[in-house]
Amino acid sequence: MKTETAAASEPNSIIDTSKMSPEQRAALELTEAARAETRDGFVSDLFMGHFTFPALHPFPVQRPEDHDQGDAFLLRLGDFLKAHVDPDEIDRTGEIPDEVFAGLAKLGAFGIKIPVEYGGLGLSQTNYCRAAMLLGSYCGNLTALLSAHQSIGVPQPLILFGNEEQKRRWLPRVAAGEVSAFALTEPKVGSDPAKMETRGEPTADGAHFIINGEKLWCTNGVKAGVIVVMARTPDKNGRNQITAFVVDMDTPGVEVVRRCHFMGLRALYNGVIRFTNVKVPRENILLAEGKGLRVALTTLNTGRLTLPAACVGLSKRCLEIARVWAAERVQWGQEIGKHAAIAEKIARLAAETFAMESMTLYAASLVDRDKQADVRLEAAMCKLWATERCWEHVNEAMQIRGGRGYETAQSLAARGEEPVPIERLLRDSRINTIFEGSSEIMRLFIAREALDPHLKIGAPMLDTRLPWKTRAEAAGRAALRYVGWYPRQWLGPLADAGLRFSDLHPRLAAHVRWAARASHRLARALFHAMALHGPKLEREQMLLGRFVDIGTELFAIAATCSRAHALHTPEARELADLFARGARLKVERLFDALHHHTDRTGYRVAQRVLAGDHRWLEAGVLG
Ligand SMILES: Cc1cc2nc3c(=O)[nH]c(=O)nc-3n(C[C@H](O)[C@H](O)[C@H](O)COP(=O)(O)OP(=O)(O)OC[C@H]3O[C@@H](n4cnc5c(N)ncnc54)[C@H](O)[C@@H]3O)c2cc1C
Repeated sequence: MKTETAAASEPNSIIDTSKMSPEQRAALELTEAARAETRDGFVSDLFMGHFTFPALHPFPVQRPEDHDQGDAFLLRLGDFLKAHVDPDEIDRTGEIPDEVFAGLAKLGAFGIKIPVEYGGLGLSQTNYCRAAMLLGSYCGNLTALLSAHQSIGVPQPLILFGNEEQKRRWLPRVAAGEVSAFALTEPKVGSDPAKMETRGEPTADGAHFIINGEKLWCTNGVKAGVIVVMARTPDKNGRNQITAFVVDMDTPGVEVVRRCHFMGLRALYNGVIRFTNVKVPRENILLAEGKGLRVALTTLNTGRLTLPAACVGLSKRCLEIARVWAAERVQWGQEIGKHAAIAEKIARLAAETFAMESMTLYAASLVDRDKQADVRLEAAMCKLWATERCWEHVNEAMQIRGGRGYETAQSLAARGEEPVPIERLLRDSRINTIFEGSSEIMRLFIAREALDPHLKIGAPMLDTRLPWKTRAEAAGRAALRYVGWYPRQWLGPLADAGLRFSDLHPRLAAHVRWAARASHRLARALFHAMALHGPKLEREQMLLGRFVDIGTELFAIAATCSRAHALHTPEARELADLFARGARLKVERLFDALHHHTDRTGYRVAQRVLAGDHRWLEAGVLG
């Protein structure tokens, strides 16, 4: 039998963790154990210098019946929102009226994706995303309520991992409007689940688990009837085990300690939830004991598509607000939209919104093609890109509205002006780059997946935990693999030059061809970085972030051009062209920054700031 220490030090991932601190190692090994193998796809191929454009071209178009089904629901939802929901009032009072909960439940909005046989509407991922767009354009609080409920709350993990008995027990309840939530975060657990303190201890007979601990910032937790709780269960082979439990909120020992309040999303029913000796039957475990992180990560893979969809809606709303105001407001002798500084913002807003929608619809179509599809890279890129761009869009829309942008809708109305709610939209959208995977964590996550094919080939030879013979064999295999692959990354552009992308409009074809060449350049640069930094590349977050940003822009160019082709209008082509021009410039700057940057100096200065060496600069302020 293996000793615990031996088992713990045995490589369980292809990343060499032997030189990491115990805390770093625990965090990495836990997430590595939970991650599934990466599958091939347009995005993962990009980083290997394979530009598999046919994966997203022709652009997947929604089936007419599916589209009609979505239209019918969106019409009812839109009518309901206009007639019964006042987003500014919800923001002002911090409460969602009971009639709104009831109305949404009657519409089926709590079970949009839940299969009909379990009481839901059974709509596709694309239609769910379209609903998120509509909601996102109107009311952030309702978007968060419905998204936390069905993208990460009980329905999604149950659909993915629940057994038949579990589905029959809970899905009809949550589809009918019983609010659900997802509780992972704790005071010490933000992005790093290895520090989880909530415990689930099995009873002597093993039939139950006793949960103790406290969860923080659980969205919907204050209203929920049932939630998914992540808890640490007894270690196996010296490794942390996290298990996902479905917990009814009326179980003795579950207590909502307080409701949390935020800068925006003021009607979020988000709270601190305490568990004191909460007895939960083993049947409530999702997937299996110790597989909780797998449940959480997989749930988030598709769940993460809701936020970008909501961002598309919000950016469209910003575009509308900016367009109307910039055409109407006259300053310095002409409409402000005619001043170049404002015109640039409007054009960028339009082009990037189109790109955001193209990426999101593409990712959603992958799920509709195969419910079990691994869209983790696409969804993470959409989440990262859309939330960052959308935040800029709301900010720019506020800038375009000038002082009126900063004024509350209520105050505008009181002065007899149109109550344009940019101030609320800005407050509500700030959280998007933080929750459901912060931007920093998304970049690390995408980088890990992007590096995977290289790690599989190259990591064993650099892994100091392995015997030298194994490492030598790995080196031989890597040499064989790269001897063919590497020259192709230089010759690839020549071969791609022969690709005509002949069905595309010449302007779009030029952008796609450019992106194909850039993917070879990206693959080469990644390879050079691996050769230079070896296993330490994992620590080069700034460098990895640039690779991720390049890959994301290339994905955006490809999706946008392909969709513009599918829409077949000069307007779509115009936006795709402008977007691709801007993205190409950005990618060039990112390639340049791979070699010209201030990362080292910046890091050194940051450590000195953290050590207090620059506290002199903080003089003259009230802390
Ligand atoms: C309004 C709201 C709703 C939420 N809803 C839920 C919910 O329903 N359920 C739930 O479980 N949680 C929820 N959360 C928690 C949310 O998901 C976390 O806030 C998020 O995961 C980040 O964790 P943290 O705030 O503790 O930040 P930390 O993890 O402490 O990170 C702080 C900063 O450091 C960065 N950082 C952390 N680690 C690294 C690293 N290795 N490399 C580089 N940068 C790093 C982060 O990106 C961030 O910028 C919610 C939070 C809020 C504010």
